[in-house]
Amino acid sequence: MIITPHLLAGAAIGSQTDNYWLAAVLALISHFILDVIPHAEYDIPALKRKIKGRRKLFFDLAKIGVDFSLGFLMIIFLTKNYTDVSYILTGMFFGILPDIFSFLGFVFNFRFLKTLYKYHTALHFFRKMSIHKWIGYASQIVVVLAAIWVIK
Ligand SMILES: [Zn+2]
Repeated sequence: MIITPHLLAGAAIGSQTDNYWLAAVLALISHFILDVIPHAEYDIPALKRKIKGRRKLFFDLAKIGVDFSLGFLMIIFLTKNYTDVSYILTGMFFGILPDIFSFLGFVFNFRFLKTLYKYHTALHFFRKMSIHKWIGYASQIVVVLAAIWVIK
């Protein structure tokens, strides 16, 4: 899934526990489960080195920036009445960690990051099926709404 539902799902998990380890492990697991569910994603071709160009790279980074900011601002807004957000932030971080590794893999080209990326991408096996793009949007909206409901 894109960054916003991963952030919110991780935050929702963090909001339900007062154990950092549990928040981290469950949020990490949530990432892989959400990636298995059919969903639509925007492409980042320049970051994946499929196309070249500073402008195109900037555009890819802007998409990621907007996506991250949207999720993060929603979490800030939803947790404004929380006194301790440390578990929520832990869940949020581990909920997005596999994508952070993917991002670092695009930037640095390390072999172990490439291997992680290969397994991470393999979870998106629904790509071989023909799924209507609206199902791909709806699945993520459902995750976001469920997370909002849990955090609030
Ligand atoms: Zn992912």
